[in-house]
Amino acid sequence: MNTAQLFNDDTEFLEWTKVHPEAYVINFRANRSADYIVLHRASCRTIAVSNAASGPLTTGAYRKVGGRDPTIFDTWIRRNIAGGQCVSDECIICKPRR
Ligand SMILES: [Zn+2]
Repeated sequence: MNTAQLFNDDTEFLEWTKVHPEAYVINFRANRSADYIVLHRASCRTIAVSNAASGPLTTGAYRKVGGRDPTIFDTWIRRNIAGGQCVSDECIICKPRR
């Protein structure tokens, strides 16, 4: 899969991260704010946990897009997030580009 995939089902998302632990995920707010788009490794524990405040992983306060290569997210972000050009941050837990 060389395209970015927007998830709308938590079970499907978690299964995908298990099958593709070497892949990447961007996590962003449901309102698609350009100033919060965080790149993670698909194996990052922080994107696999939800709480009552944020709700479901993929249909609550946050949304997730997966991809095999972090460079493909730039195109997805420009097309789908108003004012967005690229990720705004990289996770300090999983350090996706190191
Ligand atoms: Zn992370």
